[in-house]
Amino acid sequence: MKKTTEIIKINPKKFKKEQIEWLGQEIKNGKTVVFPTETVYGLGANALDEKAVVKIFQAKGRPSDNPLIIHIAKKKQLNQVAKKASRIAQRLMDKFWPGPLTLILKKKAQINLKVSGGLQTVAVRMPRNKIARELIIASKVPIAAPSANTSGRPSPTQATHAIEDLKGKVDYIIDAGKTQLGLESTVVDTTSKKVKILRHGTITEKEIEAVVGQTIGNNKREGKIHRSPGTRYKHYAPKCQMVIIKGPKNKVFQDIERRTKREEKQGRTVGIICFEKHSHCAQIVEFAGTGNKERGQNIFRILRNFDHKKTDIVFCEAIEEQGIGTAIMDRLKRAANNKIRTIR
Ligand code: AMP
Ligand code: MG
Repeated sequence: MKKTTEIIKINPKKFKKEQIEWLGQEIKNGKTVVFPTETVYGLGANALDEKAVVKIFQAKGRPSDNPLIIHIAKKKQLNQVAKKASRIAQRLMDKFWPGPLTLILKKKAQINLKVSGGLQTVAVRMPRNKIARELIIASKVPIAAPSANTSGRPSPTQATHAIEDLKGKVDYIIDAGKTQLGLESTVVDTTSKKVKILRHGTITEKEIEAVVGQTIGNNKREGKIHRSPGTRYKHYAPKCQMVIIKGPKNKVFQDIERRTKREEKQGRTVGIICFEKHSHCAQIVEFAGTGNKERGQNIFRILRNFDHKKTDIVFCEAIEEQGIGTAIMDRLKRAANNKIRTIR
C-alpha cells in the first residue's frame, strides 16, 4: 500500500532542535524516517520495535538475512544493544566515534533477530552528523538504519536519491542536502581475536591497524576476503551494464575510446567514468575528481545519473586500491558485477 511521505527540508548548518524533536517521537512510535548521516542517507526506525524494523526491509525490498546497522548517539546506549565490547573495540570507539566506523559486537538478547539478520552479532555505529545525532537523542531509542535506497541500487548521497527510491514507502524524508563523505561506513568485526574489515570505507585499513596494533591486510593473502553478510547480493548497480578498465593510463584511455566508438556505432548510449579530465568522445562523460575524497563524494551520484540518462553501457577507469581508493574500487567493482578488463 502506498504511504504518504512527508518531505522535510532542514538546513544542516542552521536548525533548531524543535525541528527534529517531533521526528524523534515519531521514530519512537514506530514510524520510518530517512535522515542524513556523514556517510549516506539512512532509513531509520526504532531498533527495539520489531514491527518498525520490518517496515525498513519492506520499504527497501531488502532480503531479510541482510542485517541492519544500529545507530546510537551516546556511549551509554551501547549496553541496550550489545554485550560488553572487547578492549580493541573500545579503543576503536574512542578513536573513531562519533564517525564513519561500524563495529560488529555480540548482540544483547533484547535486540530482535530481524535487526541482526538472524545473527548473534550486531552492527553498531555512532554517527557524527548533527541532525542524525539530534534525531537519535530525541527518539530516546537506538535507531536501526541501512542506507536509504532500494535494495541493490546506489546509496543515496542526497535526499533526492532517497525520494526517488522511497517516496510512498516511508513516513518521512529529511532533506538536508548532500552528505559529507558519500561512502558508507567502514565495517569492522571485533568479535574474534583477529580483527577483520568487512566493508571498506573512508576510515582506512591503515588507520584501523594503527589503533588495533595488528595487520589486517593478510585476510586476503589467506585467500578468503571476509565479507559482511548481505554483500553477496547485487549492490550499488546502475541499471545498465558496466565494465571497469584497468592498466597503464594512456592505454586505458585508448581502450575506452575504442570501445565507446564500437558501442556507439551500434546505436548504444555510452557513459564513461574518469578520474582525470580527459576529453573522451562518449555522449556522457562523468569526471569523478582527482582526489579520493572528492571521488568518494561523487561516485554514487554519478552511478545514478547513468540511469537518469538511460545509458546502455558504462566504461570506468580503475583507480589504485589504496587508502580510500580501496573503498571506491569496492563499490565500483560491485556496481560492475566484477566485470574488469585488464590491459597490459
Ligand atoms: P547498509 O546499512 O545498507 O550499508 O548495510 C549494512 C552493512 O552492515 C551491510 O554490509 C551488513 O552486511 C553489515 N552488517 C550489519 N550487521 C552485521 C553483522 N551482525 N555482522 C556483519 N555485518 C553486518
Ligand atoms: Mg546499503
